[in-house]
Amino acid sequence: MNLTIRETFTKELPSDNNLENSRRQVYEAVFSFVNPKKTSSPKVIHVSDEMLESLGISTAESKTDFFRDVFTGNVIYPNTKPFAMCYGGHQFGSWAGQLGDGRAINLFEIEHQNKNWHLQLKGAGETPYSRNADGLAVLRSSIREYLCSEAMFHLGIPTTRALSLSLSGDPVLRDVMYNGNPAYEKGAIVTRVAASFLRFGNYEIFASRNDKKYLKILVDFTIKHHFPHLGNPSKETYIQFFNEVAARTLTLIIHWQRVGFVHGVMNTDNMSILGLTIDYGPYGWLEGFDFGWTPNTTDRQHKRYRYGNQPNIGLWNLYQLANALFPLIEEAAPLEAILEEYKTNFESQSLQMMKTKLGLFSSDENDQKLIQNLEDTLQLTETDMTIFFRLLSDFSSEKNGFELIQEAFYDVENITENIKSKWQNWFEIYANRLQNESISTFERKRKMDAFNPKYVLRNYMAQLAIDSANLKDYSLIDELFQLLKKPYDEQPKYQKWFAKRPEWARDKVGCSMLSCSS
Ligand code: AMP
Ligand code: MG
Repeated sequence: MNLTIRETFTKELPSDNNLENSRRQVYEAVFSFVNPKKTSSPKVIHVSDEMLESLGISTAESKTDFFRDVFTGNVIYPNTKPFAMCYGGHQFGSWAGQLGDGRAINLFEIEHQNKNWHLQLKGAGETPYSRNADGLAVLRSSIREYLCSEAMFHLGIPTTRALSLSLSGDPVLRDVMYNGNPAYEKGAIVTRVAASFLRFGNYEIFASRNDKKYLKILVDFTIKHHFPHLGNPSKETYIQFFNEVAARTLTLIIHWQRVGFVHGVMNTDNMSILGLTIDYGPYGWLEGFDFGWTPNTTDRQHKRYRYGNQPNIGLWNLYQLANALFPLIEEAAPLEAILEEYKTNFESQSLQMMKTKLGLFSSDENDQKLIQNLEDTLQLTETDMTIFFRLLSDFSSEKNGFELIQEAFYDVENITENIKSKWQNWFEIYANRLQNESISTFERKRKMDAFNPKYVLRNYMAQLAIDSANLKDYSLIDELFQLLKKPYDEQPKYQKWFAKRPEWARDKVGCSMLSCSS
């Protein structure tokens, strides 16, 4: 394995002078050098072939002990110095102070085919930022992150990637539901990959400490390496930088809304400066279409991070980033204008996204109403979002729409006459609206199917893979991994995964509700 190591981050940014791996507040530094913990019997259980290729690692190399040891933290790749980043964050609406990479350790940065990648281990032991936790991760949450981050990539959604999933061989104690029943689980390590793991919280931490000098160093670095088209640092460049982060954040959240992904913990420390989906924790996928749904049990009461609130939270988080960047700009008006624009862009992009889901490409002043009516109707009885939109592409005016989408209802027996007539009414308006479209039914179906995925990582599917992995059977991880490479394709051999959540999974932990414990 011969990697082209680059050291832009560690060479250009200030590091913590203290080299001791002790938990503490770290000032005037962007990161601290720290080595991963050695594990007792590391074992790689899955590798992403696409990621191998993107990084220039061969399949044969991925089967070596050296690969296993590097990507479980047992051997340090020659001439590299692992590190953990210092960041803060607003958690559930309040400033939480210093957080940082508490269980993520960045191994190195490499260049391949003109792209720079950071490789990082999640679950490789404690760092100065581990606070009162152990720096480890369990197999359950590692499988969820590994599968979902690669699945998101194939859905065409900006995300951090995953190279490998490994067992550490060490047990990890977790109280899954925070109810006083801790138990040992298998420890695991995911190698995550991204152009950058910088978060809103990396900038907020300096602003919170009135540390304008280090704030500027980090912002200038970010622009130089990740937004080079914006030009040399200046007040105007900083405004444009914020503008681009806002635009990327909105694009990301529109994608989430399109496929029914609920992140679950949209704290500012989990918001990527590049607009990537980052930190897969208690995320979930909508089964029944429901704006009020959140998978995260920790958020059960206020549902701050519910599906329908994600766009608002994106804006709230951008306000925090605007506050953090303010010392470099010293003028509120341009930042406020960008935040205002987020709102209007959300309206137009959201409408555009919903129209595409419905196969509507011409304009009609009543589209907003048609969509509102659909969203209300979808919530009358539990209706599977993914299945509904996928079946809808087969609709044409000769067909009975209500019958076409039957499969999407969870409780078919109890559909009342009232619900049925509301659906019939909606389909009548939809059929009329389709008359104004100039594309053929065939072409409409093609476009809709390329936009509405057939297969997503339903919560119960991940849980089945976890249950069998706990019994040392990793075949389902691979099956789901392969399935989710082509989420928009028909894939008849995997038809069984185009199905509603089974009843046994309705209230099972891991299937419909998840805690932050990972
Ligand atoms: P999360 O909610 O997973 O995004 O984590 C929030 C903060 O807690 C981050 O600073 C994490 O690094 C830290 N953290 C979460 N789990 C652990 C753990 N097991 N050990 C150390 N730090 C952790
Ligand atoms: Mg996090």
